[in-house]
Amino acid sequence: MGAALAFSLSGMAEARGWDEGMRERLSRAFGAKFEKAEELVASSAVKKYTFEPSGRVMWIVVGREQDYTVLPGIYCQCDDFYINVVVKRKTSACYHLLAQLIAERKDMFEKFSVPDSDFIRLNSEWKKQSV
Ligand SMILES: [Zn+2]
Repeated sequence: MGAALAFSLSGMAEARGWDEGMRERLSRAFGAKFEKAEELVASSAVKKYTFEPSGRVMWIVVGREQDYTVLPGIYCQCDDFYINVVVKRKTSACYHLLAQLIAERKDMFEKFSVPDSDFIRLNSEWKKQSV
């Protein structure tokens, strides 16, 4: 897991575009987790909500049991992130974070525009699922 821990997703989150070299680096660092992330992207599990007119953005990754809010390169709501990234420091990302990264780089995500007035309602729906 050393390679995955050393891998800085936050640096990558700022760049754009996708190439084979990056695919290789991620695949080497994250192995099966990366493959799972690619499957999520292929199944359109990554969604970007843009709130208008504030321009606030929320990324949602649809997981097997629930949806997760993801802060690109930084944070995911799931147990894997909490246990293996935050507590055990075994790795630097869960596969939802990887999926968001791949999806944004490849421009393979669903886009939604929603009014700011829906922010609190949607946000509490997403939060509720993690309990
Ligand atoms: Zn996650």
